[in-house]
Amino acid sequence: MDVMQDKTLSDISRTKTIATVGPACESFEILKDLIYRGVDIFRLNMAHGSRESHETAIARIRQAEAALQTSVGILIDLAGPKIRLGQLAQDPLVVTNGQQLTFVRGVESAGADELTCSYEGLVDEVQPGQAIVLADGLVRLQVTAKTDDRVECVVMDGGTFRSRQGVNLPSTQLSIPALGEKDRDNAVWATTQSVDFVSLSFVRNADEINELKTLLRDHGCQAGVIGKIEKREALDNLDKIVLACDGVMVARGDLGVEIEIYKTPVAQKKIIKTCLRHRRPVIVATQMLESMHTSKQPTRAEVSDVANAILDGADACMLSGETAIGQYPAEAVTMMQEIMLETEQLLRRTASQISGPDDPNPNDVSEAVMFGAAQIAQQLEARIVVISSSTGETALIKSKQRDFIPTVCLTHHREVARFICLYWGVIPICTGQPHTPEQFRSFVNQWAKSVALGEIGDPVVMVTDNQWMPDVHDNILVGRIS
Ligand code: PEP
Repeated sequence: MDVMQDKTLSDISRTKTIATVGPACESFEILKDLIYRGVDIFRLNMAHGSRESHETAIARIRQAEAALQTSVGILIDLAGPKIRLGQLAQDPLVVTNGQQLTFVRGVESAGADELTCSYEGLVDEVQPGQAIVLADGLVRLQVTAKTDDRVECVVMDGGTFRSRQGVNLPSTQLSIPALGEKDRDNAVWATTQSVDFVSLSFVRNADEINELKTLLRDHGCQAGVIGKIEKREALDNLDKIVLACDGVMVARGDLGVEIEIYKTPVAQKKIIKTCLRHRRPVIVATQMLESMHTSKQPTRAEVSDVANAILDGADACMLSGETAIGQYPAEAVTMMQEIMLETEQLLRRTASQISGPDDPNPNDVSEAVMFGAAQIAQQLEARIVVISSSTGETALIKSKQRDFIPTVCLTHHREVARFICLYWGVIPICTGQPHTPEQFRSFVNQWAKSVALGEIGDPVVMVTDNQWMPDVHDNILVGRIS
């Protein structure tokens, strides 16, 4: 079965969907159904599940991808330096404002008012006056005093928390490495698997991204590196981090704890703008359809949140618990698609004129060619632009141009097709083996008629890299459906 068999271009959103894999969707049948409903990339969160369960999930995703004759990306999400509470003496623990708590070294608390955590350095690095935030921001402590082995705190915002929940230190500069031993081990494991992207949590600077990239490349893995922006320091170093990454994630869960929660919408817009400027794909993540964990319908506010992320310019929206542990994973993916298709109509109207890059690079031939191809396609009212590319670079340029001319990218590299799963507005097609100009032309005809609903005589624009003419950079070819 071909996933496109009974779909037309109007059924396929420009914005891509990422779904997190977990117990609610890890069977072959459900994974296949989610791809059919619109999932482009699956995320495996290394903070949960065993390595064996992740390997099983990867194998099933690849089986489902093959059964549907499509391309699906796989993203391995490394936990990074996430600090977690140790075992509480009283679990869960309810605390009230003004109560005194103490952080001590070790992993197990001796009494109800004593806390431990997974990062030994916390006791050394946190300073009086700084905040310690627990339970995703629900409980806030302030450090009042410290000795060599104890950090005394007072509860500023009381609430309930449990063993092993996250600990955030928004105002402390931590010396914990971005890529700890466990992350390095998981990254090396990822190089032995069929994965397309590896993301790093709690990134603070570009060096940390480069360190992960070097590790992957040293093990012969070309996976794209995604930087998760969820720390204040990352916002301060945003341009350099974005330039070092192959893609970026607005990780709003921890970001909303590390900076004031009411600042996250503006931070999201800033991150998306920076990614558009540097031509990097950007994913908006966390609590997009949160209530669909237990409800068949999202709230109005959630629908607006997804729509606004699309209007801001997100390349992809990510579902977390909604698909991993929720009761309605299929409905959540379908809802995502419906919001995307509807919202993109507004984007289409506002993007009616092809504007070209904000900051055109006179040395970038592919950028100039893609701009020209889009102008030709618009003037001729072409049904479709078809790119033939061995690297996917032209597909990324076309994606960041944000025009609404339906675009397909043909490549014979399976890995390139899976990478394109993250590119807004470009549908990847993997041919499996190098195609001749005749095969390319025949594909364009077939696709333009079936999926793009074109008729004989309708114009099509084709862009090819130098695979058939080594001495030219790119070609624009204009033809008609025959
Ligand atoms: C986030 O914090 O928003 C995020 C995507 O990371 P995780 O799901 O690992 O908490």
